[in-house]
Amino acid sequence: MKIKNFTINSVDQVIAKIVGEVLRAFHVEVVTSAEETADFDKFEIFNETKYERVTTRLIVEKDGVKKSFKSAENIRPEERRDAEIHRLIKKNLYKILTEDFKFQPVPYGIMHGVRPTKIIHRWISQGFGLTSHGIFDRDKIAGRLREDYLTNYEKSKLLTEVSIRQIPILNSSDEKTVSIYVGIPFCTTRCLYCSFPSNILPDDEEKISEFMEVLYKDIDAAKADIEKYNFKVQNIYIGGGTPTALPEKFFYEMMKKVFTAFYSDSVKEFTVECGRPDTITSEKVSIMKTYSVTRVSVNPQTMQQKTLDFIGRQHTPEQIISAFKKVRAGGKFKINMDLILGLPGEKNIDVIDSLKQILALDPDDITLHALALKRGSKLQTQLSDKIKSLEDFNLPSDEDVRKTADIAEKILRKKNYLPYYLYRQGYISGQIENIGWCKNGAEGIYNIQIIGEQQIILGIGAAASTKVPDKKNNRLQSVFHAKDLSTYLRDADKYIENRSKLLAEVLDKYE
Ligand code: SF4
Repeated sequence: MKIKNFTINSVDQVIAKIVGEVLRAFHVEVVTSAEETADFDKFEIFNETKYERVTTRLIVEKDGVKKSFKSAENIRPEERRDAEIHRLIKKNLYKILTEDFKFQPVPYGIMHGVRPTKIIHRWISQGFGLTSHGIFDRDKIAGRLREDYLTNYEKSKLLTEVSIRQIPILNSSDEKTVSIYVGIPFCTTRCLYCSFPSNILPDDEEKISEFMEVLYKDIDAAKADIEKYNFKVQNIYIGGGTPTALPEKFFYEMMKKVFTAFYSDSVKEFTVECGRPDTITSEKVSIMKTYSVTRVSVNPQTMQQKTLDFIGRQHTPEQIISAFKKVRAGGKFKINMDLILGLPGEKNIDVIDSLKQILALDPDDITLHALALKRGSKLQTQLSDKIKSLEDFNLPSDEDVRKTADIAEKILRKKNYLPYYLYRQGYISGQIENIGWCKNGAEGIYNIQIIGEQQIILGIGAAASTKVPDKKNNRLQSVFHAKDLSTYLRDADKYIENRSKLLAEVLDKYE
């Protein structure tokens, strides 16, 4: 729907943001030029909170004719008041748009956060959704999701299932248990949709050495923090970028350094993202085995050559198969493979064909991502600079992506894969989710911890973030290393200090 003038009776940034989220879900857009035709000349939203009731009015005008719509809900006294008012504004507007304007409901309703499973974990920690015998009442949890967030039946069930599966793993961590993230910001080429701050691997070895030196200083400082607080490392995750893009001698040195600094009996999972299959060699597989790696990602994204070429990945589907076999033969690694739904030009038969090809390899874990048009990606830049239009990219419709996800889910369940972690992003294709499916017992522990945000994560390397749950104040505190590589290299001491300061700020008050 196109509108000419949009107003809202609030200057509050949060209200503008949440109203924008609902409008975007239904593709309600303000026209950018006077020549463009619009469905309405005016689109005005009024929110009011009175007598513990939140009322939203939408007034639209076309050719001087006005129409008014209204929805209202009561505030629940047991909820945090500001969060409750925001939720009800979204709910009211969503109801007007679906009931009065007949927009097709979207799968996650008014749920727009990145980590929806955290909502269910909070409810459960407050005692909601448990029977008097301490058993999870799945119907009650799913029912509340539908009522509070207007999620559809299938997504309410899926969210409940995933959240409950994660609880034993979340509970396996105490205040001294941490995960380590090491970011290697290099790739061999840049994917069309990539919004990560990945850099093309330099030809000049001196430049790689320069990064390595700073990384090792960062590792040493994190090791000192671990010793100071007596932390137990549960998971080590080396991601990026593509860590295996590093030439062998650098990869070897880096693995040795990480292992020496962080590995002990407490480590349950040690993951290396190998991303691009064309960076995986038998030597690197053997280095990973030497240093006790337990989990490896080999990420095809698609098994369709035409799409691989279009998105800028310089490898073939055959290289994916051979890289997978190399890793399988090289050690007892759990292997994860990623696919992306919604890639340019891909129809549902392409995705299902890719899924069947990777299932034939029998990976332990498959993550289905949905393409997100993110700022900083070549794709989004070409769109916003009007170098290309959406039509040029031939992106599948939301409807197609949802249908593909449904078929994929049925295939995965039939093959005994279970959904175990889930997160969402803005502008995500089909308005669905990124979701990990694994064989029973092959859950990626780090994936659950990073989304669960209940464990300390120490971030090392460019673009890494450190997260420390402040249990006393019931909030998560974070510091971020620079995304830009040269800024990280220049100011590494400052980022290292920020990480130590954050730990001191949150943890020293419990000592
Ligand atoms: S492999 Fe990953 S990090 Fe590297 S360019 Fe592609 S999407 Fe970005």
